[in-house]
Amino acid sequence: MKPLQHLFGIAQLDPDQIDYLLNMSESFIELSRRPIKKAPTLRGKTVINLFFENSTRTRTSFEIAGKRLSADVINISASTSATKKGETLLDTGQTLAAMQPHVLVIRHSIAGTCEFLAEYLTGTSIVNAGDGAHEHPTQILTDLLTLRGLGGHAGRTMTIVGDISHSRVARSHLIAAKKLGYKVRLVAPKTLLPSQVERYGCEVFYDFDAAIPGSDVLYMLRVQTERLTSNCCFPSIREYHEAYGLNAKRLAKAGNDCLVMHPGPMNRGVEISTDVADGMQSRILDQVEHGVAVRMAVLTALCGGDEA
Ligand code: ASP
Repeated sequence: MKPLQHLFGIAQLDPDQIDYLLNMSESFIELSRRPIKKAPTLRGKTVINLFFENSTRTRTSFEIAGKRLSADVINISASTSATKKGETLLDTGQTLAAMQPHVLVIRHSIAGTCEFLAEYLTGTSIVNAGDGAHEHPTQILTDLLTLRGLGGHAGRTMTIVGDISHSRVARSHLIAAKKLGYKVRLVAPKTLLPSQVERYGCEVFYDFDAAIPGSDVLYMLRVQTERLTSNCCFPSIREYHEAYGLNAKRLAKAGNDCLVMHPGPMNRGVEISTDVADGMQSRILDQVEHGVAVRMAVLTALCGGDEA
């Protein structure tokens, strides 16, 4: 496999690299289920999590991933960093890089932040933990790992529903689907679809019910209120839930084998009803478990591979 220096997005990975990361992740699922969840793989390595946007799953799973592999992990959030005192992003990045971490994990609201910093920082690998509406590569690896345990992604149809235009997860899935041969259907009101959506070469539906037959996965997205400029996109939460929410009645139309996924955080009663979120077909907590394994694999690959 081509060695990984940074992980900016799914766009940079070839199918062999994706496979390599998923194979390694599989072995880390097992480690996380042991009574003593510790391996020396990253002993002596330093990982800094620098998060300028809120996060529960991604930040915690990077932290747990590093700690389970014996790395030293430091967490910095925007509210406690010197950017609050007027320091530029570049100065913050250069300051942290001068402390010689092996990996800097970054989440930021601006697309391209990681590539930008990588141009200036030397000796540190950068991982994109979500940049604006651009990419979220470790979430997609997490979802692919979840599908692996259920027979794989090849030939499957994933129907992604909700706020497509602001979703880095949807965008990264569209890129991955092209590389790996699964189908993506997009479902959203026109106001929540990116302009020129046709260029992604996937089927687009405005009517959720029409997209359900033939779907193997219903992948629900949160409405990204932090990226909306106003209440422009739908009349009310109730109407949104009626048209685009996944409830038991809709899921029944999809059949018993159809899986429900969500990258979190969920807004129950908006894009997903509670009975579906907690139901038999939901794989949402599996995604969370797999997120730790994937981040263990990514950190390991960036620190020199599985022999590190
Ligand atoms: N956790 C995902 C992200 O960071 C999805 C979301 O926030 O709704 O993009």
